[in-house]
Amino acid sequence: MKECGRKQSAMSPCAACKLLRRRCAKDCVFAPYFPADEPCKFGSVHKVFGASNVNKMLQVQF
Ligand SMILES: [Zn+2]
Repeated sequence: MKECGRKQSAMSPCAACKLLRRRCAKDCVFAPYFPADEPCKFGSVHKVFGASNVNKMLQVQF
């Protein structure tokens, strides 16, 4: 079952890093777009575009 509830924790990585199993840095590029308390948001984006594409898109923006 997918985690789609609203869970908030100061230690938890952002939704993107959680899904991609990356280490969430303090200046993580995903964090502003995919906060940890909105896992569904990244889940749907990730499904549609794929992880690497999302990564590319966000890196271009920065
Ligand atoms: Zn992150």
